[in-house]
Amino acid sequence: MLLFDGHLDLALNGVDWNRDLRCSVDDLRAQERALGMTDPGRGGATLSFPEMKAAELAVCLSTLLARQEKEINHSFGWTSPQTCYAMAHAHLAWHRAMEKAGYLKALRTKNCLRQHLNDWNTRGTQAPLGFIQTMEGADPILVPDTISEFHEHGLRAIGLTHYGPNRYGGGTSCEVGLALDAIPLLKRIEQLGITVDVTHLSDVAFWQVLDNFNGRIHASHQNSRRLAPWQRQFSDEQYRAVIERDGVIGIAFDIIMLQPGYVRRVSERLVSMERAVENIDIICQLAGNTRNVGIGSDLDGGYGVEQTPSDFNRFRDLQNMTTLLEKRGYSAADIAAIMHGNWIRFFLEVLPD
Ligand SMILES: [Zn+2]
Repeated sequence: MLLFDGHLDLALNGVDWNRDLRCSVDDLRAQERALGMTDPGRGGATLSFPEMKAAELAVCLSTLLARQEKEINHSFGWTSPQTCYAMAHAHLAWHRAMEKAGYLKALRTKNCLRQHLNDWNTRGTQAPLGFIQTMEGADPILVPDTISEFHEHGLRAIGLTHYGPNRYGGGTSCEVGLALDAIPLLKRIEQLGITVDVTHLSDVAFWQVLDNFNGRIHASHQNSRRLAPWQRQFSDEQYRAVIERDGVIGIAFDIIMLQPGYVRRVSERLVSMERAVENIDIICQLAGNTRNVGIGSDLDGGYGVEQTPSDFNRFRDLQNMTTLLEKRGYSAADIAAIMHGNWIRFFLEVLPD
């Protein structure tokens, strides 16, 4: 079954973590284990280019991710907006290099996406992995108009915040609203026809974005607060708001978003992929149909296999979702919509001609 993933941090792996994604997952794991790397996620890679082919991944949203942090030794951040900007360019360059090497294909327009799907239909996994460029956290956007420059480089989706507050507003694990600069930024995003990813907004900022932005929205990797009741997940009201604007919501496979009370490096993996199906069910029940949910796995987004559902080992296991959905009574057409159709429809509407 053709797979579309609404959220992957490929360049984070390729650049910040210095992983050669041309290798197999087994090789990536072995290299890091042999070096005794024990930071969360190290030695537990679940994806690489060969692995994503085995998973029949045809298209994904791939991030530019560079978060500003105060501490110089922060494992996940950079101390100035200028360094964030530079790192985002490093991520752009990584995508470009992988494109030149035939592993990736940038999908910037509706036509690119259509042609790529045709290519996939004829060549199957011989075709490169198509990607739509997104940005997770607007920290690299120096001033609101910097968005135009990234748009020229192919940016087609953006989330304003990541963890904590940034120059544009409040993100996950804080309750800060939008900053003043977010308003002209949202205006410019709207003019450019970029979709706003509402994942990782604080609750207050989420509702402010909806009030101040009239363009398209989606939630790239966004589970339900009913399953993991803390602020990173959405309430039913937030889900409904995305559904009302015909956005698509991606289900994430990070266990912190599926298992209540999960503590990194402490908790056991107690929930299986069945839990992701439950989350899909919640969205379908709220919508009254299956058209607003997809996969947004977030796999290898700063964690590894140790922080995934208990029956998950590597990226190709996402294909098991088809069987799980079938067992739950979903029709073949609904399963295809969830695995790829809904995201494809959404981006055939959102991407420029
Ligand atoms: Zn994220």
